[in-house]
Amino acid sequence: MGFETLLGNDRLKENLTVSLGKGRVSHFYLISGPAGAGKRTLARLLAAAILCKGRDKPCGVCGPCRKTLKNEHPDFITLTDPEHKNIAVRLVRDMRDDVFIRPNESDYKIYLIAQDLGLEGQNALLKILEEPPGYGVFILLTDNPEKLLPTVRSRCTELALTAVPEKQLRHYLTLNYPKASAEDIAAAVQRSGGWLGQARQMLEDGETVPQQTVDFVRSYAAGDTMGLVNTLVPMEKWKRDQLVEILNAWLELLEGALACRAGLSVPTPLARQLSRARSAPELMNALTAVRKAVLYAQGNVSPAAIVGWLSWELR
Ligand SMILES: [Zn+2]
Repeated sequence: MGFETLLGNDRLKENLTVSLGKGRVSHFYLISGPAGAGKRTLARLLAAAILCKGRDKPCGVCGPCRKTLKNEHPDFITLTDPEHKNIAVRLVRDMRDDVFIRPNESDYKIYLIAQDLGLEGQNALLKILEEPPGYGVFILLTDNPEKLLPTVRSRCTELALTAVPEKQLRHYLTLNYPKASAEDIAAAVQRSGGWLGQARQMLEDGETVPQQTVDFVRSYAAGDTMGLVNTLVPMEKWKRDQLVEILNAWLELLEGALACRAGLSVPTPLARQLSRARSAPELMNALTAVRKAVLYAQGNVSPAAIVGWLSWELR
């Protein structure tokens, strides 16, 4: 099996296969790449390869491989802190204590640090990096290695993920999304910039997002007033709760686009499209307008009046 389930990145996969084949395991790996680049996929494959008992590591069929790939291996521990932007220092300190407890059933104990560490967290980690036990392996993920302290970064073996070549990505998407049209696949290849996770999300979103929302984002992002009016006019005949539902979805998108502009979150592809096309004040104005429209719709204003008002505000 090897690293083949990670798409593209041939050089990186080859280098890893060679060094792991020679039994060279680093104590610290830093996997970098933007959202959808495959950081977690690579981290799981790497951990499986380190714990694997078979040949062509990770073989994917031995016990340790299967457990690691399913996230069930007792010596493969994932550290996240979903309630905070950065992993709390407390959790890093707990990990620091835990690392001195020997592995359960393997020669290594692997920690996947799957979220950003703040300054304090990195300093706490440094203490382990300076003197790790022989069996300890740490895999850090980041969308930007520059965020790390130089003292942390310099101790890591860096694995930088690269975009998947266009032809390979198109081939993969065509095989895995047989229902998607050639245009949708071409758009996903283009707009994802070669990052598989983003391309997949676009195709998956495209199947569930209502057409009005897709049209709204397209025309608002392009500043296409006619397109916007054509999107909004049919909604004059909608029922109020139907209108509230879609307007709330637009609110969420606009909020996502603003958060994305501020670097606060990984947006959906549609929110990303908005954030790229419109400035923060423009997005803010649209947000205010849509928010008012929701209030009107919840009150006693007719959908026709709301839609007319909104197309004026967003023009
Ligand atoms: Zn294996």
